Amino acid sequence: MGIFKKFGFGLKKTREGMTGRIEDVLGAYEEITDDFYDDLEEALIMGDIGMKTATDIVEELRKRVNHNEVRNPKHAKMIISDIIADMIDGGEDMGLVTVPSIVLVIGVNGVGKTTTIGKLAAMYKKEGKRVILGAADTFRAAAIEQLEVWADRAGVDIIKHKEGADPAAVVYDTIEAGLSRDCDIIICDTAGRLHNKKNLMDELAKIYRVVEKKLPYADREILLVLDATTGQNAVNQAKEFMNVAELTGIALTKLDGTARGGVVLTIKNELKLPVKFIGVGEQIDDLQPFKPKVFAKALFEDISTNDED
Ligand code: GDP
Ligand code: MG
Repeated sequence: MGIFKKFGFGLKKTREGMTGRIEDVLGAYEEITDDFYDDLEEALIMGDIGMKTATDIVEELRKRVNHNEVRNPKHAKMIISDIIADMIDGGEDMGLVTVPSIVLVIGVNGVGKTTTIGKLAAMYKKEGKRVILGAADTFRAAAIEQLEVWADRAGVDIIKHKEGADPAAVVYDTIEAGLSRDCDIIICDTAGRLHNKKNLMDELAKIYRVVEKKLPYADREILLVLDATTGQNAVNQAKEFMNVAELTGIALTKLDGTARGGVVLTIKNELKLPVKFIGVGEQIDDLQPFKPKVFAKALFEDISTNDED
């Protein structure tokens, strides 16, 4: 399956919901009027885009429509797709060049951290990279076991301690093992419990100190995992985590099960955080590096006729 089609399938519900509503508005007007813009803005807001971003899109559309002297609402569709592509463009590539590089994965329980790490490990392994995982979510024994299952599936090494162990100590040992085993990429599953911010901050700070000390020159990514099905709540979670960690990007999971894919736009436009990966299912290959142009195109095109990038 081509990347476009895969992307497209993952976005099926978003396309049916948000894009469907936008297309209804485009089809309901003979010409572009103020009412048209109002209805469009409402359709965007209902697609979980958030008030500010919806307004930004409509404002930009007005500019481009006036500049290009567009009259037919149907022609606005490509313009909206372009506006969205521009809005979400930039920063989506992982900057992992050094050997080793390290990825810290954070986020609240249930968003899909462990699953995403398993998929990431498989993806990098497929690229010929040597990967090691660190089970630094030591809060529950089940979390460690689950990461082991994913390490097994992906065919990569894992370093673990017992339940309740110091997460920073797990990260330390994972880095040591990664260095001695010539790993390219070290990925650590950290716990992200928002109910105690101070605790979380202290824990993350301790992990950073370990990384700083052991891998001062290594490229690092701090990926926040967000569950797209929670819509604007995911945006609020991101705001909370921005206060406690130097996030470098977002992995947005469960896009396959939600019509709330518009949240991608809010994250980039309002929080200036790049979405780097999207999760489009529970299987090991259901993770896609985020491609802004493909995403914007997939939102507005009928995927049954397309099978290419
Ligand atoms: P964690 O607590 O953050 O580590 O979350 P888990 O990795 O344990 O995932 C929680 C649930 O979400 C599991 O049932 C996963 O199968 C599911 N999940 C994770 N990513 C995706 C995704 O992209 N799509 C779907 N449909 N389910 C997902
Ligand atoms: Mg987990």
